Amino acid sequence: MQEQNKSQQLMNSQEKETAKKLKFAKNSGFQAELRRRVDELFENSDLKERDCPQMYVKTAILLLSFFGIYSLLVFFAETWWQVVPLCILLGIVTAAIGFSIQHDGSHHAYSSISWVNKLMSMSLDLIGASSYVWHWKHDVLHHTYANIAGYDMDLEVGIFGRLSPSHQRLNFHRWQHYYLWLLYGLLAIKWHFYDDFYCLIMGKIGDRNYPRPKHSNLAIFFGGKLVFFTIAFVIPLLFHSLWQVLASYGLVAVTLGIMLSVVFQLAHVVEEAEFPLPVAEANIIENDWAIHQIETTVNFSRNNSYVTWLLGGLNFQVEHHLFPNICHVNYPEISRVVEETCQEFGVRYNQHSSFWAGLRSHYRWLRRMGT
Ligand SMILES: [Zn+2]
Repeated sequence: MQEQNKSQQLMNSQEKETAKKLKFAKNSGFQAELRRRVDELFENSDLKERDCPQMYVKTAILLLSFFGIYSLLVFFAETWWQVVPLCILLGIVTAAIGFSIQHDGSHHAYSSISWVNKLMSMSLDLIGASSYVWHWKHDVLHHTYANIAGYDMDLEVGIFGRLSPSHQRLNFHRWQHYYLWLLYGLLAIKWHFYDDFYCLIMGKIGDRNYPRPKHSNLAIFFGGKLVFFTIAFVIPLLFHSLWQVLASYGLVAVTLGIMLSVVFQLAHVVEEAEFPLPVAEANIIENDWAIHQIETTVNFSRNNSYVTWLLGGLNFQVEHHLFPNICHVNYPEISRVVEETCQEFGVRYNQHSSFWAGLRSHYRWLRRMGT
């Protein structure tokens, strides 16, 4: 236990080190009131913040679906019209594992027991990306600095696109609302073959330093890569030709890449989201942290329980950003409290009524940033 506390303290100080240099304005009282109301919601209902039975059921359904579809694809499918839908389905289920199981585990939102969270977060290593690198990139950098260019690495797509007003505009960005969709499809492939290895070798995520994985985390990093490449390539190659394996992998990975990219973009890279910048020399964001999270984030399809299930509650990104360590199955209930509190405090609560409305807004934002 002492060991765990010590390593937790070390982790927290390292997280502060990676996330330092930028401060938020003083808490306006909004965040404390919101927290109080959400605590009250849990006290006065049967809801549980973590270890929710429906989350364990969901985990079993998703993992069984993953291995079931994979087995059908590798051992039974014989024709292209069997292979193509199975690849697309496998891509969707893989994304759902990322959205639900690993994401909750990584945020300590899955369980109150830390090894359960660790185990669930490692489902990301199974599907081809390092849970350790994800923790730093997502839990620390993205969540602390949502939509602040130069700090939130999810906004950085190199020269290929201009997602934020503070990014430099290049001539060819005028077509980004057409071609970026193709690049979204390559996200998972880049992740599988390049991103984690680059972060490991350079000790950087984007231009931010982070502590490289050591000891057990390094073993999980390489163990995860070994398991993923065995599942994705070694086993299929025992039964199929190289081009069949590459084509099938490509289809699964492109489906996965599009799903991951689109869900992220709909939450933060749309017309309704703010892209604040720090006050130059003071390195201060002139906003309460909680209000910053709300103004930089947009929900969609709040009333569609199928979308909520499949996307691990990431259509409720406002609530996720405010309460990342509460299990996502609770977001619909929490969202009512957040929306009401926002109204009282005069904070704008951003949302799209449907997935398609969000997608259209993302398209228009890309067009506006490119011209
Ligand atoms: Zn998150």
